[in-house]
Amino acid sequence: MSERKENIVKIILSAFLLGAALLFTKIIFNDLPYYINLIFFLPSYLIVGFDVLKEAGEHIIKGKFLDEDFLMGIATLGAIIMGDFPEATFVMLFFLIGETFEETAEKKSESALDALLEIRPDTATVEIGGELVSKAAKDIEIGEIITVRAGERIPLDGIIFEGETRVDTSAVTGESAPKTLKFGEKVYSGSVNLSSVIKIKVTSSFEKSTANRILELVKNATENKAPTERFITKFAKIYTPIVVGLAVLIAIIPSLIFGDAKSHIYSALTFLVISCPCALVISVPLSFFGAIGNASKKGILIKGSQSIETMSALKTVVFDKTGTLTEGTFTVTAIHPEVVNADELLKIAAAVEGYSNHPIAQSIVSYFAGENDLCVQEVSEISGKGMRAYANGKIVLVGNEKLIESYGIEYKKCHHTGSIVHIAFDKTYLGHIVISDKIKEGTSEGIKALGGMGVNAVMLTGDNEASAENIANELTIADFRHSLLPQDKVTELEKILDESTGKVAFVGDGINDAPVLARADVGIAMGALGADSAIEAADIVIMDDKLNKLPELIKISKKALLIAKENIIFSIAVKIAVLLLSAFGVSGIMWLAAFSDAGVLVIAVLNAIRTMKI
Ligand code: AMP
Repeated sequence: MSERKENIVKIILSAFLLGAALLFTKIIFNDLPYYINLIFFLPSYLIVGFDVLKEAGEHIIKGKFLDEDFLMGIATLGAIIMGDFPEATFVMLFFLIGETFEETAEKKSESALDALLEIRPDTATVEIGGELVSKAAKDIEIGEIITVRAGERIPLDGIIFEGETRVDTSAVTGESAPKTLKFGEKVYSGSVNLSSVIKIKVTSSFEKSTANRILELVKNATENKAPTERFITKFAKIYTPIVVGLAVLIAIIPSLIFGDAKSHIYSALTFLVISCPCALVISVPLSFFGAIGNASKKGILIKGSQSIETMSALKTVVFDKTGTLTEGTFTVTAIHPEVVNADELLKIAAAVEGYSNHPIAQSIVSYFAGENDLCVQEVSEISGKGMRAYANGKIVLVGNEKLIESYGIEYKKCHHTGSIVHIAFDKTYLGHIVISDKIKEGTSEGIKALGGMGVNAVMLTGDNEASAENIANELTIADFRHSLLPQDKVTELEKILDESTGKVAFVGDGINDAPVLARADVGIAMGALGADSAIEAADIVIMDDKLNKLPELIKISKKALLIAKENIIFSIAVKIAVLLLSAFGVSGIMWLAAFSDAGVLVIAVLNAIRTMKI
């Protein structure tokens, strides 16, 4: 049985036994002696409280007392000593209900993540007896030949043994342009085979392959990350010593002055019981539960409630470029015609590029998208340069400057970044088309909104300075760092972590981002396109890849924290009021305390529920 289910059973059982005990001791038989009452109530208390008492005991042995378990423990044991049994069980019961709420929210977003990760298995395809069989990647030995089909991720490092293909290495190197790789050239695991089937001779074991080495980096990064304390633990660290200190003073000082230690110890115990933050232990986790649930409805999965607190104190967001700020795929971003109009230029280019499966060609063809009535013949691909074809017996050239120069045609230089495709017809230059990585929808708004919230943006990329600068300028990101390998990204992030005055988030999507995601105060992965390892290393996943979700997430987190703090202040204020009343000698204080606890609990819970709709 999972811990959560176990908790639910405990809660139901304890509540039932508590009800039965109340029925017997308060309604059927009144005024039973202390020990009989204890026998009735103890089971309901221990079912929900035993683990807390055990934890508190273990923490004391480790010298880490004065945490929330200790507070619960002494307050409830105090209540039991004073014969206030229902109060003791209530506190433990609410504490467990709160914890279960929080765990439920976290579990839900984790299972949504599992579904996302299952899509990509860790296997390799090998040929055995003429048939392709799938084998666990870790069982493949060096020297074995594996087959990787188009669209598949390369599972192990190796060299191309047969075939030629285009490979998207962006996940590993961060370089956004796909590379054409031929026989004898090196391929890295984690890259995606884009165009055709290849056979790879494996040169590194699964453990030594790039993808796995990056995962190892992730592990190290996770270990280096400062653990985030639970909100309630942080609160207990301040609250518990104050309460315990005051209780000790209440017991000792008057006893020394006036004697009658027994009655003063009794007052100290009353004080402890009253100060137990019953409403807090349920309303704080409930605020986080609401926020996690609310975010998941908006397509943001949060793996742990600690991330909410980190997000609420965010000062810097570091972005990976390719695939995060930009689409990571190439598309036509500008058309600069010379003699013909733009539509005509695009039509000619698309007619020729229809014969090529180069990513540049494909982006032109899909951008054109209409019926093409232009008929081209004798089309040939000139490796590393572009395409040559004939239309009405005249030469059509579509390719880079090398191609146009080789035909002695004058062309216009273009100042845009990206791949420039020049087009010439019958020795006349017709213009050029710019193909580049496009900024993702929602990115500009997202970054602007972050700026408005006082959060700085930094961009890290494996790309060269020119393309990095281009995107950074367009998005008005002043701080960008380029030409970085995966390990450089970790170093840069560590520098940023040192410099930042607040919490630092990293947003990325590729395998190469995983170590940085794990190292940041909070790692945010892009879900739809992201690599498994990135999603695994992250604390938060944005399912639909839209960066304008980020300001919303900060808003939800800030609100959740505010509500949690409101509840803390409100319930402590009521406690202080009750304590003051007791100091001024108002009688029936235990009853009043219990009543105010229930009232505060209801109000705090209603307040916490507000986090579900922000
Ligand atoms: P490759 O090494 O195949 O990626 O090609 C190197 C360069 O040749 C590309 O960056 C383009 O400038 C040019 N090129 C190759 N194929 C084409 C094509 N089908 N259309 C336009 N340009 C091409």
